[in-house]
Amino acid sequence: MPISIENALRDAALLLAEHQSPSPRIDASVLLCHVLGKPSSYLYTWSDKALSDEEETVFNALLERRKVGEPVAYIIGYRDFWSLRLSVEPSTLIPRPDTESLVELALERLPQGEGSVLDLGTGTGAIALAIASERKDMAVTGVDLRDEAVALAERNKVENGITNAQFMQSSWFGNIPEHRFAMIVSNPPYIDPEDPHLSQGDVRFEPKSALIADDHGLADIRVICQQSPEYLTDNGWLLIEHGYDQGEAVRTIFSEAGFSDVETQHDYAGLDRVTLG
Ligand code: GLN
Repeated sequence: MPISIENALRDAALLLAEHQSPSPRIDASVLLCHVLGKPSSYLYTWSDKALSDEEETVFNALLERRKVGEPVAYIIGYRDFWSLRLSVEPSTLIPRPDTESLVELALERLPQGEGSVLDLGTGTGAIALAIASERKDMAVTGVDLRDEAVALAERNKVENGITNAQFMQSSWFGNIPEHRFAMIVSNPPYIDPEDPHLSQGDVRFEPKSALIADDHGLADIRVICQQSPEYLTDNGWLLIEHGYDQGEAVRTIFSEAGFSDVETQHDYAGLDRVTLG
């Protein structure tokens, strides 16, 4: 007996809610849109339309994956970030809306005129590509420890038609040639290895190397802050994303590394998220 779009969505949302999805209705809609190859408006306009047997089988297979907690972005293979659609793979962190506030701050602070920007730990290339898409006069370099991430970021650049970005393998500043950037940005790993948050939700499926840092999550932030001054122009800016409870510690690290005008800004949820100097 064929099932309508409306009933398939309702059943799927109930199933995912039983399996602890924090957003069962949205997950069900996104997965069904992916199966049908249609925008979400289609689900409401055509709510009485029946799914074909094949559509229903594919949808059920995706729901099985979501039921065990696999992130929706890994199941469908992409996540929208800023104005871009980014391919994602389990080798990289899934771009989050929190990080869009870092992009917004970067765009506010970037000087007018030509210059260059460095994104450390670029992953999918999200931050680098968002900045490059808004500032065609900037040359943006993104680096990542993992070759798979570099290849993925390069693919996202091509898929989004961006030409003023380049990606390379580097452990933080390890392979960066001698150069002064107008801005350095990073969303480094910053979660404490003991944080119970690591055993819940999407982070269980994401690479630990993109999430966890020693010294209560501050080890990589410290390295980036200490080495950045050598790679910044005189009035250059460093912007780093961090945990909601790390603002004070990160401001101290910035100041000790010689930065002035140090401040912490909130994300869209009103939590401390980005420190800059
Ligand atoms: N904000 C992410 C989370 O808490 C972590 C991102 C990161 O470690 N860079 O899930």
